This record gives sequence, structure tokens and C-alpha cells, in this order.
Amino acid sequence: QRIESEVEVLDAENKLLQTRAELSKERMENTLLALALALLFVGALLYWAWRARKIQAKLRHAAEVDFLTEASTRGFFTGYATERLEKLKQKRTHTSMLLFDLDYFKRINDSYGHEIGDWTLRATARAIKEFLGEHYVIGRMGGEEFAVLLEDMTAEQALSIAEQCRNVVSSIDTEPTKLSFSITASFGVSDTSLVGFNFDNLMSAADLALYQSKQLGRNKVYEYKNTLSFA
Ligand code: GH3
Ligand code: MG
Ligand code: MG
Repeated sequence: QRIESEVEVLDAENKLLQTRAELSKERMENTLLALALALLFVGALLYWAWRARKIQAKLRHAAEVDFLTEASTRGFFTGYATERLEKLKQKRTHTSMLLFDLDYFKRINDSYGHEIGDWTLRATARAIKEFLGEHYVIGRMGGEEFAVLLEDMTAEQALSIAEQCRNVVSSIDTEPTKLSFSITASFGVSDTSLVGFNFDNLMSAADLALYQSKQLGRNKVYEYKNTLSFA
């Protein structure tokens, strides 16, 4: 009888151990499942963050860089130039604004099509970028109008650069389009010594000078010479 009861005890112990083993196996499985879920969650979170970052970078790029010409957008250029002008004002560093607009651009579109018009815009931005170098920010201010801030430069130096830019544009080779047409632009230059360091004033003055270039025959450079209307 004693042996019988011992066997029963052993049996019971055995069962207990078995249940324990099953329980611990189940617990282990649950832990693994929780771990896998947590990993999946972290992975999804990381992926989502990476995607959001990528989208953000894309949006930022689109806001700052003009899709067609790869010049800066008007918004970016305005912010950048305004910020620079504030710094330059403190140091009283003579600075100029260069603004130019392609001549009879509508004619190019009308005669050869919008695609060739687009090519012309890209070629112009590229040529000016290449000529001025990485250091300068070129803003596409409108359809076929571009601006450059010429820092730390006398009006004379700025005019000379504008004149060279005029030459660069008029020398663009249209050979890649298999067409032969001339590309020219009219330029306006304003400088801080006459107009001050306010972005809008500098721009308006450059625009007036540009208007003069248009009026007086196009493919020209004019500087804004008045001091009265801005100050
Ligand atoms: P002006 O010498 O007085 O500057 O004459 P213009 O013909 O250059 O100026 P106007 O303002 O009459 O015409 C500008 C044209 O530029 C009109 C518009 O359709 C065109 N344009 C604006 N943006 C783009 C663009 O992204 N691509 C192309 N192909 N054309 C554009
Ligand atoms: Mg034009
Ligand atoms: Mg225009």
C-alpha cells in the first residue's frame, strides 16, 4: 500500500512537472510573440519615420528649387536675400541686386513651341550658373525673370558682371535644339548705396532699371540711379 501511494505521489509529481514545463513553454512562446510584435511595431515606426522624412525632404526641395530650371524658387531666394541683406547692412557692405528678363520670350514659345521655351529657360539658368559659379544663388522670380544678389561689390563691379551675364545669355548656343534662334535678356541693377538694404526696395529699383533696358531696346544693362523714391 505504501508503495502504491508512493507511486501515486510520483505520478502526481510527474504531472505537476509536466504541467509546469507546458506552462513555461507557453510563457516562452508568448514572450517570443510579444517580442516579435514589438519588433514589428518598432520596424513599422522606423519605416514610417523614414518615409515622413523623405517626403518632408522632397517637399522642402520642391519649395526651394525650381523644378524646370533648378534655380532657386522665388520664395527661397526672397528669404535668402532678405537674410543676407540684414547681415550685410550691419557691416555696411556694398551690395547689388541683378535682375534680368528674357527678351521676346513669348515669341520663342509661339514660334518653336513650349518645349523649346522650356529648353531656353533651362539653358539660360545653366549658363548663368556656370558663369557665376556655385557661390551665387540664382532665383527664378517669375516665368522668364531671374535675380542674383551680388554681395560685397561696388555698383561698377556689379554692372560689369551684369554686362558679362548679358553676353553669356546672348552667346547661348541653340544647336542642341536643332534650331537657330537668338536668346537675349534685359538687365536691371540696383545697389544698396542708393536704395538701402531693404529687399523689396532693391528689387523694385532693379525692376525699374530693367524696364528701362526693355524700353531702350532690350539686350541691355541699366542701373537704377535715383535715390529719391527709395530711402
Ligand atoms: P519682353 O521682351 O517684354 O520681356 O517680352 P516677353 O515676350 O519676353 O514677355 P511676356 O511677359 O509677354 O511673355 C512671357 C512669356 O513667358 C509668357 C509665358 O507664357 C511664358 N512663360 C512663363 N513661364 C514659362 C515656362 O515655364 N515655360 C515656357 N515655355 N514659357 C513660359
Ligand atoms: Mg520677357
Ligand atoms: Mg517677364
